[in-house]
Amino acid sequence: MGGTEVEEKLMRKLGSGSLDFETYFSDKAKGMKASEIRELLKLVESSDVISLAGGLPAPETFPVEKIKEIAQDVLTHHADKALQYGTTKGFTPLRLTLADWMEKRYGIPTSKVEIMMVAGSQQALDLIGRTFINPGDLIVVEGPTYLAALNAFKYYDPEFISIPMDDNGMMVDLLEEKLRKLNAEGKKIKFVYTVSTFQNPMGVTMSLDRRKRLIELAREYDFLIVEDSPYSELRYSGEPIPPIKHFDDEGRVMYLGTFSKILAPGFRLGWIAAHPHFIRKMEIAKQAVDLCANTLAQLIAWKYVEEGYLDEQIPKIIEFYKPRRDAMLEALEEYMPEGVRWTKPEGGMFIWVTLPEGIDTKLMMEKAVSKGVAYVPGEAFFAHRDVKNTMRLNFTYVPEEKIREGVKRLAEVIEEEMKALKG
Ligand SMILES: *Cc1c(COP(=O)(O)O)cnc(C)c1O
Repeated sequence: MGGTEVEEKLMRKLGSGSLDFETYFSDKAKGMKASEIRELLKLVESSDVISLAGGLPAPETFPVEKIKEIAQDVLTHHADKALQYGTTKGFTPLRLTLADWMEKRYGIPTSKVEIMMVAGSQQALDLIGRTFINPGDLIVVEGPTYLAALNAFKYYDPEFISIPMDDNGMMVDLLEEKLRKLNAEGKKIKFVYTVSTFQNPMGVTMSLDRRKRLIELAREYDFLIVEDSPYSELRYSGEPIPPIKHFDDEGRVMYLGTFSKILAPGFRLGWIAAHPHFIRKMEIAKQAVDLCANTLAQLIAWKYVEEGYLDEQIPKIIEFYKPRRDAMLEALEEYMPEGVRWTKPEGGMFIWVTLPEGIDTKLMMEKAVSKGVAYVPGEAFFAHRDVKNTMRLNFTYVPEEKIREGVKRLAEVIEEEMKALKG
């Protein structure tokens, strides 16, 4: 993010020279491409465009004073540990504190999981790829799913199976149908990846029945489940649902947690809660990647959870985000033309909008930006890029008035597109 213009200038200044740079890359690296969304969003950074495209937490929610205080304390009393290499699995007092916290909040017994600290959930996704995916392995994802997970897994050359979503999350009955077919062909899937609660990008939550059914299917058809849950604490309405991991007696579910949305993403700190047998292997994988997670960040996070500040902070974040979610839902209701549908999330950071068939939100983007609003076209969130008429809106980063104005501008653009489509 940022700096790209400077980089490009530097590249131009250096010229092409005598090296044929491209030839040195590995075959894997040759296949890597910058996301076109990033390119699109470069347009947005300027001017008075209201960006509903971001995926960032609001910086106003970062507990800066508390972090200063804790950092001071950690460096005064624990500098020897905080500035030293740590074990690959992570700082044990933090791991134990998190295990207790998860038992209390989610009913995941501490006796059943081992926790490994990672450099954000993103690293967990990569470690899972390294540890579990053979080329050609069948991996089930949600349609749409978290873009950065697709990118992390893609490196290991799986074959994605995309299961449609509705307001209750992944349509597990369709998964079952698929599993039955695969089974008849003698095929198995390796794992299901799900953002089970307040999903990115849709904002929807997998229902309790589907969670239980998914676990049953995992046992019946012998696969694993990767449950990525960065948003479960950010609930603005409705009743909490236990994570899928709560129903897991066998150790099939690997649960990914992170401090990114409940403390600050700059910590780059997340965790994997999984069966010790799986953790042991991922620990070896992680050792080769970065030896251990940032120790200073781990000690600060330890105090933050241990002394109850996390539990104090969560309601404050909710109080900050809820009016923004409400503002966006109200504005959608008020401005969107007939024929446009959207999700009504009970938490998280995103709302998913579906336009009438025939409108391509990627093509519409330029017009939207020229009218002063930006969103993320939905196409890239689908493993097979086969859906064109959707978009993701973020409601956490921009204040209420701007959300209303942004949605109003967006509705005008959509209305024009719909007219053009008819005419
Ligand atoms: C934000 C987010 C994460 C967090 O990633 P970190 O690497 O922990 O910052 C993970 N998964 C999903 C689906 C997200 O939206």
